Amino acid sequence: MRSPAAITVRASWYAPERVILYFIGLTWWGVWAVFQSRGVDYRFLAVGALVPLGMDIAVGHWAFGHTLAAAAVVMIVVMVAQRSRLGQRRWLGIPIGMLAHLLLDGVWGDQAVFWWPALGADWGNHPLVPGVTLLVVRELIGLLACVAFYKQFGLSDTVARRTFLTTGMVSRRPTPRQGNPPKR
Ligand SMILES: [Zn+2]
Repeated sequence: MRSPAAITVRASWYAPERVILYFIGLTWWGVWAVFQSRGVDYRFLAVGALVPLGMDIAVGHWAFGHTLAAAAVVMIVVMVAQRSRLGQRRWLGIPIGMLAHLLLDGVWGDQAVFWWPALGADWGNHPLVPGVTLLVVRELIGLLACVAFYKQFGLSDTVARRTFLTTGMVSRRPTPRQGNPPKR
């Protein structure tokens, strides 16, 4: 491995597997903003949002895990393997989380990786995590997003939290005190 970026990443305390809140927190909010759905399993989304990182961690830079093709393959496998609607909705959280990761990473900035293999088979050498400053900023944003999610969906409540942990679902219960009028 001659890449200085890859060496820096490996040698420092901020290992790629620690960069998680940014992807989890923003994926949760993004999916909530788009679908406003209680049927989505937020646990599967969280796992899906980390799958590209997990897939490419052995390589050390953006590779197959960061391609649109990877998310598409997983989506097809889910649709074929899961017959029940409930199972599909739950497992679709994985490819949706993967797509969210690609967005949050800005992978389209590297067209060859994003559209692989359409534009050639070269992965390039884009590091899995950004420099330390951006990384810290990202994780702080992610932390805020996770805390806001926790508050918005009343996860300090034992029942709500247990439901979330066992089913991945959040309650749509309006929380007027936080200034969010219920949707009509
Ligand atoms: Zn990534």
